Amino acid sequence: MEEATLAETDSAKVTKSDSEWRSQLTPEEYRVARRAGTERAFTGEYWATKTSGVYNCRCCGAALFGSDAKYDSGTGWPSFHEPVAAEAVATKRDRSLFMVRTEVLCARCDAHLGHVFPDGPAPTGLRYCLNSASLKLRPDAE
Ligand code: FE
Repeated sequence: MEEATLAETDSAKVTKSDSEWRSQLTPEEYRVARRAGTERAFTGEYWATKTSGVYNCRCCGAALFGSDAKYDSGTGWPSFHEPVAAEAVATKRDRSLFMVRTEVLCARCDAHLGHVFPDGPAPTGLRYCLNSASLKLRPDAE
């Protein structure tokens, strides 16, 4: 898979065609990560996960969020108070669904990750509310 060959420090943009993403991802992963979909609350792989590790981008393998920043927001989506590095993610104003929200994307491949809200815990006060389908947890070695 792609993740194994891409170094975490490689910040070069990853650009693929729509058909390449379709063939690499499951239909649900594609809908969420490449079409800005949202998985149903309490149904994703990671909303309740407490395993130590790094959550990588499911599309390009970039390291995005650490389990040390994960907390139980009660929303049914995996939630974090900060990314592993500010430059790992990008944000964009999202005016869909009659709301103004801030979309969170993978800075390397533009995968849709979720949204960020200003109601998170200390120290950042932010809640990165993400979709499991856009992430792939790499657990820490035992
Ligand atoms: Fe990515």
